[in-house]
Amino acid sequence: MLRRVVILLLLLSLLAPAGLYVSGLWRPPPRWDPWAVLDIRDTPNFVTPWKLARLEREPAACFAALEQSGLAMARLPDRASDSGCPLENTVRLEGGRAALSPAGPVVTCPLAVAWAMFERHALQPAARAHFGQGVRAVRQLGTYNCRNVYHRAEGRRSQHATANAIDIAGFTLADGRAITLLRDWEGAGPEAAFLRDARDGACRFFKAVLGPDYNAPHRDHFHLDRGRWSRCS
Ligand SMILES: [Zn+2]
Repeated sequence: MLRRVVILLLLLSLLAPAGLYVSGLWRPPPRWDPWAVLDIRDTPNFVTPWKLARLEREPAACFAALEQSGLAMARLPDRASDSGCPLENTVRLEGGRAALSPAGPVVTCPLAVAWAMFERHALQPAARAHFGQGVRAVRQLGTYNCRNVYHRAEGRRSQHATANAIDIAGFTLADGRAITLLRDWEGAGPEAAFLRDARDGACRFFKAVLGPDYNAPHRDHFHLDRGRWSRCS
């Protein structure tokens, strides 16, 4: 009898919050609520990947996330394409503390949000941990490019074809020191450790993260995208 009561109470304690949530009578704090708009400033948790994925399905929620987080990024008009390279829900990407160079590349809204999360919660903390200072600039090699994977004539379109990817060649620290993937990935010093931490951090917010460990074409850059295919190397 007692056992049945305990089981019943356990079930109730699990179901009651779910019932209250569905009925709208109770909500957890926004950062734990899968349906609340993502705030880029919140410390990431296990709900974050779900919230990031939702932004891809719901453009309005994506732009709300940018706005709510105080990130001023200029929204661009959609552009249809006959060649499989449409621009939909795009913005000009602005860095946070780290400026992008060249500045203002065109990216999808979900990629912009992932970038903001990456910079704030992974890149800058990694630089502070390894060098005691932040990153002031990021060297980017491009975002939007109407092409197939690996520039092949045949095959599937790259995530770059819809501005859903960014290639990163290196970083400049606050004191002006430059760190590049080509030169510093294979070292034993803090530069290599920093680049590995940056890669691992990127995997928390992007889908495919491809760097020098992936293959030779990526020996000089990180490819970061928000496509369907997940890979962290
Ligand atoms: Zn790329």
